[in-house]
Amino acid sequence: MQEVDYIIVGLGLAGIAFCEQLENANKAFIVFDNGVDGASRVAAGLYNPVILKRYTLPWKATAQLDIAVPYFRKIEKKIQASCLYELPVQKVFSSVEDQNNWFAASDQPELCRFISPMLVPDHNPHIKAPHAYGQVLETGRIDIKKLQKKYQAYLETKNAFAKADFEHSEIECIDQGVIYKGIRAKRIVFAEGYGLKKNPYFKQLPLVGNKGEYIIIKAEDLKLAAAIKTSFFVIPLGDNLYKVGATFNWKDKDTNPTKEARTELIEKLTSLISCDYEIVDQEVGIRPTVGDRRALLGTHPEFPQLAIFNGLGTRGIMMSAMLAIDLYEHLENGKNLPEEINITRFGKK
Ligand SMILES: Cc1cc2nc3c(=O)[nH]c(=O)nc-3n(C[C@H](O)[C@H](O)[C@H](O)COP(=O)(O)OP(=O)(O)OC[C@H]3O[C@@H](n4cnc5c(N)ncnc54)[C@H](O)[C@@H]3O)c2cc1C
Repeated sequence: MQEVDYIIVGLGLAGIAFCEQLENANKAFIVFDNGVDGASRVAAGLYNPVILKRYTLPWKATAQLDIAVPYFRKIEKKIQASCLYELPVQKVFSSVEDQNNWFAASDQPELCRFISPMLVPDHNPHIKAPHAYGQVLETGRIDIKKLQKKYQAYLETKNAFAKADFEHSEIECIDQGVIYKGIRAKRIVFAEGYGLKKNPYFKQLPLVGNKGEYIIIKAEDLKLAAAIKTSFFVIPLGDNLYKVGATFNWKDKDTNPTKEARTELIEKLTSLISCDYEIVDQEVGIRPTVGDRRALLGTHPEFPQLAIFNGLGTRGIMMSAMLAIDLYEHLENGKNLPEEINITRFGKK
């Protein structure tokens, strides 16, 4: 019988962040991931501390950012590959009023660190931005696909990764732990993203899921050095490739690309850029979103050896490292989880 401290199910942003906590504490663990779907495989990976619709900060955004950037830098050293790229995010103002709201926000104490009062003029002949751009500070992009691939390879060298479907029916809960297919562990942490819907222990939690689609375009003349935000993003990937999107769909829960999303994104893009482009791909993922927009952390009411790390929603890059610390401290040192993210907020059922 193999003995570990933890089994982790899922190697998306949540699973990786929890692995890092375990590595810091020298705990033995094994990760199961089936390598299919997953929001992290699709996400553009932008981190941006400001909600650009309302010019406000999300929950604990400053603290999250201060933890996330050094966390990804540390992982880069471990996996010996770059995955964090500083990338300006520029908001295209929709009107003069929108521009005024930007200036008002740049004066606020909690926002002035992130909102530059200096407007960026529109010098790009292929972008329609008559009211100029506002630049968010301390933004960037994580190449999540590369991070996942390299992190998996790193775990493989430690025999800490299994590419397999985790079968919940094979879990045997014992005193002080679990047994799963010949592995004895003190705990399981489920970091399954929208895969949670197949988990009989936690599937009753209100993870709603939100389907997001991007088109990937090639535009030789666009020459963007920043991610541009209007009601959607245009994100430079290098080699004249750009991610355009993403859509938000609360109804569909499959990972099939749709004509509707493609049409919506083409229409939006046409109203923003004027140069030629070619669509080279379309990508789909389900965001693990909760109605109250807070994460899902905690343990099963009957089986405390089963824990959940989910609900990262639209902001997995900024949230994952901080929440992994919260969950680890809760499980190992008995610290209370913040009420806003503890699954006990939904009652014992
Ligand atoms: C279109 C789109 C754009 C986004 N853009 C951004 C962005 O720019 N910035 C940002 O911060 N966030 C973004 N997000 C959100 C971000 O992707 C998520 O918050 C984050 O990836 C969630 O990570 P996770 O680890 O919880 O889940 P996932 O990434 O979904 O990972 C879950 C993993 O578990 C595995 N799994 C599930 N069930 C099982 C099982 N039974 N057995 C084995 N393996 C299993 C899956 O294969 C998957 O690898 C975006 C999401 C989408 C869909």
